[in-house]
Amino acid sequence: MSSQTSHHDVLVIGSGLTGALIAAQLAQRGARVAVVDAVGAIGSATRRALGLAVPHPHPAHWAETARGVRQLVQICEAHRVPVRLCSVGYLATHEAGRARLQRLALAEASAPATWNEALPIHQNAVAEGLLAEVGALVDLERLCAVLLHQRNITLRYPLEVMRLERESRAVYALSQGYTLSADWIVLATNAFTGLLSPYLGESVRLLTSVTWRSYPLPDEAVRLEHPIVVNEGEFAVLPLDDGSVHAIACSADPLAPHANLTALLRELDESLLMHTAEQCSGVLTAGAEGAPLVGRLDSQARVLYAIGLGPFGAAWAPLVCERVLALMQTP
Ligand SMILES: Cc1cc2nc3c(=O)[nH]c(=O)nc-3n(C[C@H](O)[C@H](O)[C@H](O)COP(=O)(O)OP(=O)(O)OC[C@H]3O[C@@H](n4cnc5c(N)ncnc54)[C@H](O)[C@@H]3O)c2cc1C
Repeated sequence: MSSQTSHHDVLVIGSGLTGALIAAQLAQRGARVAVVDAVGAIGSATRRALGLAVPHPHPAHWAETARGVRQLVQICEAHRVPVRLCSVGYLATHEAGRARLQRLALAEASAPATWNEALPIHQNAVAEGLLAEVGALVDLERLCAVLLHQRNITLRYPLEVMRLERESRAVYALSQGYTLSADWIVLATNAFTGLLSPYLGESVRLLTSVTWRSYPLPDEAVRLEHPIVVNEGEFAVLPLDDGSVHAIACSADPLAPHANLTALLRELDESLLMHTAEQCSGVLTAGAEGAPLVGRLDSQARVLYAIGLGPFGAAWAPLVCERVLALMQTP
């Protein structure tokens, strides 16, 4: 075992939105929490996310993730992190997607959702949709920074945990030249599932995402009134107050997001791609059913995992945090 060692009540591995929410809640309850991250402050998918928190547009998850969005808004307000509520248009470009959205609009659980076929969106790109009144734009980086800035939280960056080792009931997280031990360990590692691979690495799908941001657009360029989510998260497009447009495309095929995003932007407005300010890609994991995986890595050891939040991670994160905290209270 490495020479330097430290012990905490809880060790959270991963400082993205998931890890930050879990660490903050535990610290507020008096636990001494260490948060480590291989890359640096504010996790990798979280740093790239657009910050559009929306309910998962699948009927099975709508009500639950709408609650996640409300919780996230409350957390932002409590920490004075700017958050803006917005209507979101959900759209489908194929029959199956359209049928799912219609089911969603009719479902009792989705009372705030209203079917609207006249969204002000370019007809060739996306023809029909569902307008929902529950979405939020959140500065996720700032939220994580605020959540992690607490007396009971010790941050260690960059520190990659290479291995977990068990000695009777105690679990040690081993990094190069450093050992951390804790009563509880929470893996909030998203796409870096190396530590989980003998157990769970194969249970999540790896998705590639690309984010695109424009400069503020000239007046004659396309104007969107609402953020839109296309085909359950294949794309999201957000108009921002300064006149710029942000977009994200997501797929299990690593080459598809770039191609799909370019095609969508061309459909919206031929000239949009000339206004590119920034483009970056990132990876994230998604659970097979579109819902995250939260559980115990091992029935004996106190090692929990929370991964697979998918393209709607901002809405799922408060719910995942709730589930992790509940697991800590069950013997
Ligand atoms: C380009 C892009 C745009 C997106 N846009 C949106 C959006 O607009 N709205 C939305 O809801 N969702 C969006 N998402 C999805 C959302 O970002 C994720 O679901 C969410 O941020 C996942 O948070 P997380 O904390 O679980 O993971 P992450 O933010 O990825 O954090 C995991 C952290 O764990 C660390 N880690 C992993 N392994 C180790 C190890 N062994 N040792 C130490 N540290 C380790 C990593 O370095 C990483 O920082 C987007 C994702 C991408 C990639």
